[in-house]
Amino acid sequence: MTDAKTTSDTKKTQHPEHHNTGCAHTTGLPLLPAMSPEQLEEAWTTGLRAKGRRVTKQRLAVLHAVQDHPHSTADTIVQAVRERIPAITVQSVYVILADLTDIDLLRKFEPPGTPALYETRTGDNHHHAFCVRCGKVEDVDCAVGSAPCLTPSNFHGMALFSADVLYRGVCAGCQTEAEAELAKSQMQAAASVQH
Ligand SMILES: [Zn+2]
Ligand SMILES: [Zn+2]
Ligand SMILES: [Zn+2]
Repeated sequence: MTDAKTTSDTKKTQHPEHHNTGCAHTTGLPLLPAMSPEQLEEAWTTGLRAKGRRVTKQRLAVLHAVQDHPHSTADTIVQAVRERIPAITVQSVYVILADLTDIDLLRKFEPPGTPALYETRTGDNHHHAFCVRCGKVEDVDCAVGSAPCLTPSNFHGMALFSADVLYRGVCAGCQTEAEAELAKSQMQAAASVQH
């Protein structure tokens, strides 16, 4: 009887912070872009401990690398982490990225046709604008402010907690480039007509 009680108590403490609110705003770590590296490290330390993770220099190096290179691929992050820890393996960085994503210290974002991108801005339900020419990604604040930001006409009884909005377009730099290319091809066409 004592054993049974102990077991149920253990089970209870294994899920101390199970979120059941369905609100994406409550899950992540709200990071202000204005935070200094020291303040960020303090916030990450708190976040890691809250999720039962040890604060290691490897985990902090990955978080700094993603912070310094937002919307980066795992390969870019490996290169950045190696500036701090030259001997770290690709595999270690991949494992840490996946784990930090699981505990909402990182957000993973997968635009169509490109490898997954990582960022430290989590839990604020922001969206992304993606340039279809060069792959540039910009953050777009959620227009509605809370998840799911799109209310479906029929949600088939599911408890929805998020909706991914991807704005696709052509960035300012690519628009200028496209205009220049168009002007050049028009000049070439005009020149070939004269011959
Ligand atoms: Zn572009
Ligand atoms: Zn973002
Ligand atoms: Zn939204």
